[in-house]
This record gives sequence, structure tokens and C-alpha cells, in this order.
Amino acid sequence: MFKKLSTKIDSYKEEAVKMQEELTSRKAIAPESGGEGEYEKAMWIEAELKKMGFDEISRVDCPDKRAIKGIRPNIVAKYYGEDKTKTLWVMTHMDVVPEGEKSLWKTDPFKVHREGDILYGRGVEDNQQGMIASILTAKAMMEEGYRPPFNFALLINSDEEVGSKHGVEYVLKTKPELFGKNDAFLVPDGGNEKGEMVEIAEKSIAWLKIHTLGKQCHASMPALGNNAFTAGSDLALRLRNGLYEHFNAKDGLFDPNISTFEPTKKDKNVDNVNTIPGDDVFYLDCRVLPTYTLTEIHKKVLEISASIEKDYKVKVSVEPVMTMTSKNPTPKHSPLTKAVIEASKAVYNNNPQPCGIGGGTVGAYFRNEGYHAVIWSKIKDTAHMPNEECDLNNLLGDAKAFIHIAMNLKLNIADASVSSVWDNK
Ligand SMILES: [Zn+2]
Repeated sequence: MFKKLSTKIDSYKEEAVKMQEELTSRKAIAPESGGEGEYEKAMWIEAELKKMGFDEISRVDCPDKRAIKGIRPNIVAKYYGEDKTKTLWVMTHMDVVPEGEKSLWKTDPFKVHREGDILYGRGVEDNQQGMIASILTAKAMMEEGYRPPFNFALLINSDEEVGSKHGVEYVLKTKPELFGKNDAFLVPDGGNEKGEMVEIAEKSIAWLKIHTLGKQCHASMPALGNNAFTAGSDLALRLRNGLYEHFNAKDGLFDPNISTFEPTKKDKNVDNVNTIPGDDVFYLDCRVLPTYTLTEIHKKVLEISASIEKDYKVKVSVEPVMTMTSKNPTPKHSPLTKAVIEASKAVYNNNPQPCGIGGGTVGAYFRNEGYHAVIWSKIKDTAHMPNEECDLNNLLGDAKAFIHIAMNLKLNIADASVSSVWDNK
């Protein structure tokens, strides 16, 4: 059956191109990035799905006044399996990032340009490749009259590029009943050129704004003020050294295999060279292994800041401007992880490995709820770049892999010993 379904997938090549053209022409850019949301694109996708043999199609619309029709639509389409109590979800997103510097594009970013098997256009890889692959997976199973061991469902979201608030976060918050505790989530929105990156864990992220308050004065009379820049500079070094030293656990799943704490952005201070700044603001990007909590990091940052306050007689405030906690990595031996690795090998004849990344994917939302989520696809890694591209062979290959996963995940779940691993979350 896998062979038959794979052959079917190959016959969809021109259809995949057509879908890429339709999707790319419907700009779906977040209001934060100057767009009007995903409505037009969502309507087209929903209409296409309705022509197919899905057993359930529904929408979860998140209100957002800034978007067309005041909504950010999320689409759910389910194709029943033999066992209707468990579902393999393939989750993708509709929104794209803006084209960026137009002159860097060789062709119109919102009109697909084809050269052989390579398609160019904004969104063709991120995330239309995965979305179309998941739709074609369902189509092949439907046309061959094949029911997978359990449900195969699509979750097509809005608002991934600027934070998921109107997308998967909203769906999880308002419709938790959509998901069962044995459901598994595959997110084809990340990977590498060989299809060997099977991402099962990520670091937690904290972006901290560190404000040091001293006293401004003329540079010729430093004793009259208190140089916030000097204190802030020492603070940046003490934080960097102190945090690396204190939170030094290693985890070979990740590259790099340690937590990282890097001073990054620096706000502007005084305008002229002869003024001692009374204010200093810099930012710290922390990527933290799941071994540690962000609360522990925050505590240590405050402790180090207090030492600067004492030594320099300044005031330091620490404000988290963005945090994303990532817990419950999907186990290496999760049936889902194994099924993805086996599928990738079967289709691409490669050597996929479970790995962790620096953070910031939608996988975290599901893992934090205790679900197993894996991020995987074979991509050219051109997301967000000018001349973003999609290799049709990757698109069709990924669809075949999804079929392989849908077919083989069953064996694992039916196996009592494995399902106990699954359940022990
Ligand atoms: Zn994406």
C-alpha cells in the first residue's frame, strides 16, 4: 500500500505547482508586519479542502480587528482512521513574512516562478511546502480508498511568524477538546537540506532588558556623576561569565550542547562624547537547556545585578521582554520520533537524528501541554530569504514520508509496552 500511495503522490506534481501558485498569490502577512492577515488565503484553502473527502472540517477564528473580516482563521480538517480515538496531526501555517528588500528578488515574490523542479516565491517553502504535502497525503489516501490506522488531520494556522497568539496558542486555549492525550503532532516547518534533523526538543528563551541607572554629568568632572555605561559594561561581562559558569550543564541532543547567555542589543545613550551617561540599556539573549527553569536564571541575574549595584552605587532593573518556556522534550524513543526517523530513511535513504534547537518553534506549545511533537521536513532552508525556494522533490518526498508515518505509527501505538512510554508524560 505504501508503494501505491507513493506512486499516487508522484502523480500530483503539477497539482502541487498549481497550489503553490494559488497560495503564493494570496499574500498572508500579519498586521504587525504591515499586512491584513490570512483571510483570503484561508478561504481558498478551506474551499479546496471541502472538495476533498475529509470527514470533518471546522474553523477556529481568532478575533483580530486589524485583519480582514476581523479574524485570524485557523483550519482543522480530519480524515478518519480505523481507530477514531487517536490522531496524527500535521500542523502548518498560512502566514508568510514580507518579501523584504524587493530588489534582491529576481522575480515577483508573490508570483511563483518555476525553473524545472524548483519553485521560487514568498512562502513556497515556509510553510506551503509542508501544507501542500499534508493536503496531498490526505488526497492520496482518499483516492486510493485507504483508511490509516488512526485519524490523519491537518491543522492549518494563522499567525506563526510573529508569535502564534492568534494561531496555535488560541486554538489550544479555546478548543482543547480538539486534541486527545494520545495524539501526536508533526510540524513540517523546520529541518535541513538532507532531511536529517528530527527536532524533538528546544531550549527555553528569555530576552532580558537590563537597565542601569547612574547619574549624568560632564565628562570633565566624572566625580559629579556616576557612569552608567561603565557599570553596565561590567554588568554585561559579569552576567555573561556568571551565567555560563553557573548554568553549565551539557546536553548532547543540542547544538551547541550548553545553555547560552549573550549580551546582544544596545540602546543608544548620550548624543555627545563629552557627557557621562546616566542611563545604560542592553539586552541579554538567554537560551536555556530544559534542565533549568527560567525562574532560576532570573534569580541569578538579579543576584549578579545586585553585586553591580553595590560596587558601582547604581540602580539596575531587569525586565523580561520575551520569554518562552520549553518543557517536556519529546522522548527520543517516542513512537512519533521513531516513526519520523523511519519514514525519512524510507523516502530519502538518509541518516536522520533526533536533535534539539535553540528555541522558538510552535512545537513548544504542544510539548508544554504534554503532547509529543516533532519538527521535521526536508527543505532548502531559504525561509524568510529573498528568492525563497521549494524543490518539488522535497514537497512530494515529504508527503510520502507523512504517509509512511501515518501507516507505521499504528504498530507502535498498538504495542502495549510502547504505549506506556507514550502515556507516561
Ligand atoms: Zn514557518
